[in-house]
This record gives sequence, structure tokens and C-alpha cells, in this order.
Amino acid sequence: MRYISTRGEAPARDFEGVLLAGLAEDGGLFVPETWPTLSPAEWRALRGLPYPELAARLIHPFTGGQIAFEDLRTMTGRAYAGFGHPAIAPLVQLDERRFALELFHGPTLAFKDMALQLLGHLFEHVLEKRDQRLTIVGATSGDTGSAAIEACRDRARIDIVILHPHERTSLVQRRQMTTVLSDNVRNLAIEGDFDACQDLVKAMFNDAPFRQEMGLSAVNSINWARIAAQIPYYAAASLALGAPDRPVAVSVPTGNFGNVLAAWAARRMGLPIERLIIGTNRNDILARFLASNDMTGRAVEPSLSPSMDIQVSSNFERLLFELLGRDAAATGEQMRRFRAEGRMPIPDAAWREATALFRGFTLDDPGTLAEIRRLWTGQQYLADPHTAVGTAASHAPGLAPDDPAVPIIIAATAHPAKFPDAVEQATRVRPPLPARLADLYEREERFTVLPAALDQVEGFVRSHARRNR
Ligand SMILES: *Cc1c(COP(=O)(O)O)cnc(C)c1O
Repeated sequence: MRYISTRGEAPARDFEGVLLAGLAEDGGLFVPETWPTLSPAEWRALRGLPYPELAARLIHPFTGGQIAFEDLRTMTGRAYAGFGHPAIAPLVQLDERRFALELFHGPTLAFKDMALQLLGHLFEHVLEKRDQRLTIVGATSGDTGSAAIEACRDRARIDIVILHPHERTSLVQRRQMTTVLSDNVRNLAIEGDFDACQDLVKAMFNDAPFRQEMGLSAVNSINWARIAAQIPYYAAASLALGAPDRPVAVSVPTGNFGNVLAAWAARRMGLPIERLIIGTNRNDILARFLASNDMTGRAVEPSLSPSMDIQVSSNFERLLFELLGRDAAATGEQMRRFRAEGRMPIPDAAWREATALFRGFTLDDPGTLAEIRRLWTGQQYLADPHTAVGTAASHAPGLAPDDPAVPIIIAATAHPAKFPDAVEQATRVRPPLPARLADLYEREERFTVLPAALDQVEGFVRSHARRNR
């Protein structure tokens, strides 16, 4: 299995290369050169497997033989061992037709753990094999930072330094990062906003000697391995609801398009997912694209679902590449245009193909609160604001398949206790943290406050990367 860039001007790479590189050298995203597919009989044979076994079987073809199946199965076993539910990603029935696929039972209570927990093990495995070390640096406004820290903590060959804006993250989010006291984890609270943090990280990556010296790497959402690790839960849910012998639909609250792209990939591998519903908050570029081929970037506005406050959905490029018939030159041209002009009408045939499969939906903050309340009073289900966007999309008129016998899988992306204020505002119930996190507010914290100054931040990273001790 080799991987090619969506822009066609970077050399093809193998799985390990793609895992470690993240972005392709031409600015494109890596996609598999060919998609592995399973026959209906092969899908049926996967029914009822424990989640780590299913995950290893579905991810293994993407490794192109570079990781032995037994090793991969050991890694998926370890990655999901710490989850707070025996099913890992349980399906909870909401009504006759709707099922919440709960992706938030990992250590940081949000769906990013589903991929990042495995990624930590994959990184370690490949670094061991190559006798290399890495220093991961990243900026976070909240969610991704804690998931990355939990994925990398205590890994012998990885150091991780995460920058967050000082006093501008929620208390849960900060404590999920700063109470990890592992030797290879450091948190920097930067005196500035999220953009200042992101600029510092970019500046470190642009400082070639520093990048080289530290072996800098990122765990951002464009890494192919993250997409691959998100395919198995769509397969598990679809199989449980009768696939491949019965069609299903999915509804996914969306920001960077990574989670819904994994559902598309599961379909591409042969599962009968006949509709993909994309839920957005007021940052609705994807919904506007599907409604009228209007892909115009706008300023990001804050919402009750902050992990979806995104206007440039980086993983959309992978779908665009497929919609354009895998024409890398055309994809590169579209992306350059988007970068230069802030908008990108895509060719009519490709847009029509997208609208045949995808539906878009937008929900504002009052609508989100109303949906959380509706789920609580109607179904006694406590949903976080991101999940509520997905459930609302699933029953908006005209979005689900007409046939009521097609079940809808809704990606439940965060635990309600991760966004307690919105949930309490909607339901008057303050969701408690799960038992394994109940003492989060009492745990010891460790972080260092620094001004937004590159030399000081680089100095800190240098002194804490263990390769230098
Ligand atoms: C990251 C995130 C999303 C958006 O997922 P994408 O893959 O970026 O579309 C939705 N909900 C929650 C809780 C998240 O953390």
C-alpha cells in the first residue's frame, strides 16, 4: 500500500512515511493509492468481533505490510484498554430509527481519543523500529491538546510540549492537560490568544535548524493514520445494525471533516452507507457548499460547540480529490484558488456527485440548546452541544433517507460533562464527570507561563526534550 498526495507533486510514500510526515511536501494530503475493499461475505465475517480485533483487521490493509498483524492487534488492545466502556464505542438507541454512536469513552471524553490513542502506539512502534525520537509540539484552544497529551504520555521515544492560551481555555480542558505529570509531557501557558500559540508553533516548524535538532513533529488532523483509525467504529456500528445486508445512514457533527471522511472511507471500502449528513454550527461553510456550491471562507465565530468553530475544513481536500476523479492537478488548482481568493466553486459534475450522497445542516446556539433539552425531556439522553448538532441534523426535514427502515448512526463526539455549562443551561442538570475523572479538579497541576516570545519558547522546548538531557 502506497500513499499519493492529493496535489500530485510529492513523491509517493509508504505507511510509516505518511505516519511520520503528516502533510505531503507539496502541501497536499496523503491518500491511499488504491482503496482496500471487502466483499459482503468478508464484512459479515467481522460481525460481533471485540472492538480492538475489528479495528486491527480493518486498519491492517492500510499499513501495507509494514506492521505485522499481531503487533497491530497488540497496539489496538492497549490503545482501547483504558476506555470507560467495555464496548469502546457503544451504540445507544435514541428512538426507533436513531442510534448515538458514543465515541467519548476515552481518557479525554471526546472522539479524538479514538484515533489518537492508537496513534501514540503507532508512533512509538515505528520510532523504535527506526531507532528515532520525536518532539511533538502543538497549539490548542482546548480539545486536541489534551487528546494528544494522553496519547503520548509515558512514551519512551516521544516528548510533547503543548501551548495553550493562558487563562483562555475552560477549566476542564486546562486540567485535562496540566494534571498529566509524566516526565515527557510539558504544558506552556502562553500570554496571548490561540492565534499567538499557533503562530509560535508555526515559527518553530519554520526554524529549520531547530526543527531538525528537536525532531519536531505534529499530530494534527490531516495525518492519514487518524482517518484510518476512525473507520472501524463506523464499521462496528453499521455491522451491528445489519450491514452489509441492510443500508444505513450516518449523521456527523463536523469541523475539520476528518470524522465524516472516515465514514465516507468506510463506504468506499464496501459498507452500504447510503447517506452522510453533515452537521455544522454557525460556522457553516460545508453546509453552504452542499446547498449551493458556495465554498466561501468567512471569519470564524465562537459557538457552543467550539470544536467545530472552523471555516477551512482541511480534510475536505481528500474528498475533493475523489470528487474530481482523483485528478491531482485539478485538486491542487482548486486549493490554490481557495487560498488566493477565499472561495472555490467546484465543477458542477463533482458538486452534483457530492450532493447525491451528502446532506448539510446548520444549527445555531439557541437551536443547539433546544435540541439538548429535547433529547433530555424526550429520551432522557444527556447530549453535549456537538452531539446535539448531529442528532438535530438527523431529524431535520429532507435530510435522512426517505425509507424509515434505514437506521441513522449519529456520531456522539463528546461526553456531556466536557461541556457542562451548556448542558446545564439547557436541562438544569449538571452532568458529573465519570468516576475515573471525578478528582480532576483536585489533582496537582503543572504548567509554565511564558510570554509569546519565540526564543523563550524554543529555549523551553530545548531544555525539556529528553534527547538533550
Ligand atoms: C474535533 C471535534 C469535532 C469535529 O471533528 P472533525 O473531524 O474535525 O470534523 C466534533 N466534536 C468534537 C467534540 C470534537 O472534539
